[in-house]
Amino acid sequence: MSVREELAGCIGLQHMLEQRAALRREMDTPPEELVALRQALATRRESLGAKQKRREELLAEQEVAQTDADALREEREHFRKQKSMVTNMKQLQAVVSELDHVDVQLKGREDRLIEIMAELEALDRDIATLQEETPDERARRELAEAAWQARNRDAAGELQAVERRLREIQRTLGEPAVARFKKLWTSRKPLAVVPLDGTSCSSCHAELRPSLVQQVRTLETLQTCDTCRRLLYDPEQFTGLV
Ligand SMILES: [Zn+2]
Repeated sequence: MSVREELAGCIGLQHMLEQRAALRREMDTPPEELVALRQALATRRESLGAKQKRREELLAEQEVAQTDADALREEREHFRKQKSMVTNMKQLQAVVSELDHVDVQLKGREDRLIEIMAELEALDRDIATLQEETPDERARRELAEAAWQARNRDAAGELQAVERRLREIQRTLGEPAVARFKKLWTSRKPLAVVPLDGTSCSSCHAELRPSLVQQVRTLETLQTCDTCRRLLYDPEQFTGLV
């Protein structure tokens, strides 16, 4: 394989590796609008979930308070009957005291039941409005999801093509050249092979020795920048490659 072929292979390999990374990044990064729409839905669901949980708690509390209130009312009836049957002052005082005690307890339960009703009504109103996204929000989110899925399918197709091209280039280059390139690329990615910029390295901008520039142009051997050690090529000799 000629130096020109090896350089061309490295340039192509690097280009495909960049494309692959860009496609993977793209596939991992949903558009901001979609992220915001998903977040809005998640927040809504979270809020709805919290309100539904609170509603369950209140219903349970309501049941207990209702049972207590019913029992207290029965008790009150019992003491009222007793009150009508007392035969002396001492008995009357005792029954009246019991009745007062029951009344206080019953009042507490009834007040709480009214509070629970009010909170439940407010919760039901909130839940009714929170339950669904507005049709407009839903349509926008579904549209954004569909566009993102379509884009991802395209990107997956492009990624497969890039992988195929990568394998082709690697086959053409052969293992030793691929290994050399990968070693360099691993430590210097995303750029392991860079064009001359006049008589400088286009990556680190170091001014190159005239003899090195000459060697890069004659393509007799692979040459690297003295400063950043990247492989150098003359862009005029590799037009239309990437
Ligand atoms: Zn350099």
